[in-house]
Amino acid sequence: MNSEQQAKFNEVRDGIDEVDRELVELIARRLDLTGEVGKLKAGLQLPLYDPQRETELINDKRQLAEKRGVSPELIEDLLRRVMRESYINQSKSRAKVETVIDKNIVVVGGRGKLGSLFVKLFKESGYNVSVLETGEWDDGQKSLQEASLVLVSVPIKVTDEVIKQLSGLPDDCVLADLTSIKLRPLKLMLEVHKGPVIGLHPMFGPGINHLAKQNIVACSGRRIESDHWLLEQLRLWGANVTMIDAKQHDELMGIVQVLRHFSTIAYGYHLKAEDPELQSVLSVSSPIYRLELAMVGRLFAQDSGLYSDIIFSNPDNIPMIKRFIQRLNELLVMLENKDIDGFKAAFAEVTSWFGSSADLFLQESNRMLSRAQESSR
Ligand code: NAD
Repeated sequence: MNSEQQAKFNEVRDGIDEVDRELVELIARRLDLTGEVGKLKAGLQLPLYDPQRETELINDKRQLAEKRGVSPELIEDLLRRVMRESYINQSKSRAKVETVIDKNIVVVGGRGKLGSLFVKLFKESGYNVSVLETGEWDDGQKSLQEASLVLVSVPIKVTDEVIKQLSGLPDDCVLADLTSIKLRPLKLMLEVHKGPVIGLHPMFGPGINHLAKQNIVACSGRRIESDHWLLEQLRLWGANVTMIDAKQHDELMGIVQVLRHFSTIAYGYHLKAEDPELQSVLSVSSPIYRLELAMVGRLFAQDSGLYSDIIFSNPDNIPMIKRFIQRLNELLVMLENKDIDGFKAAFAEVTSWFGSSADLFLQESNRMLSRAQESSR
């Protein structure tokens, strides 16, 4: 490179640095604005997450990008990442808005993983929150008598005995739980309490920063319509609340949680027995396999009690897992019989069962994979 070329090269690089600095400034300005919006939304009782606004904003900027000759996917990726940050920012600034809500909330098991998240959320929103833990039942009777909501968040295996201790709550108090199974706790809550009852199942773990876009399944027990203050509060935090029958919830969880967790644990168990050198496996793995392995590995970094409880407490656990093993065997028999046509026919049946979702999932996972690749160093 001669000195003239070098000078031009440096000049262009300086230009890029300058644009990056401007980008940082713009993002900082955007975050300041979203902080303001968070405060305003808190005052106006508007939800943290507004799906319509988000879709309009992204579509609008995609069009703008296209006109400007920039990839709409790049702009969408960028905006979604910035928006994720802005939800964290909004929920922080929302929490600083001084609000007082005249409702007393008791979280049973409120020092546990999920319970403490809800304690924090309710406190930040201005509710008067108290916690009732093991060994605190005698002292906790007064707060139970004054409660507007009692939220049960204890391990599945003690949920029954805890709910049975909750008879005698005020008639207008809401009794709710966060248990990963719904039919049995809901039935028990309806037996012990005459007032409003609802079963909730947050489809997320305790490690999240805010509830925007998080799913919560709600099973109405008694006197809880979809505009009840508790459900409205969950929506204000940004959650998607899906009302569903408790029996249907447990059946769906047989697939969504029990089978998935069981097969993940079985895969990890198998890997351990086969004992390959993990680093060697990773060194020859595609990003998708690394991601799949990460999904297996992350489960073993968590609480074995929670996963065992989820698997062991589902009423359809054993029949569901046996049906799965039977289908594994059907495929294995095709392999043993070198029945490649049968194998392909089974593949085609599954493709047609997924229908148009198969292509959508392919596109969606491609986007996730390229992001995963970008974030790996
Ligand atoms: P955890 O073990 O972290 O917390 C449970 C809390 O309950 C503990 O603080 C414990 O001291 C307390 N507790 C136990 N027995 C008690 C009793 N007799 N009286 C009062 N308190 C008692 O469990 P977790 O992971 O927070 O799960 C709680 C509930 O949330 C479970 O029903 C679980 O199915 C459900 N859930 C958890 C997750 C998750 O990812 N952790 C996700 C969805 C639903």
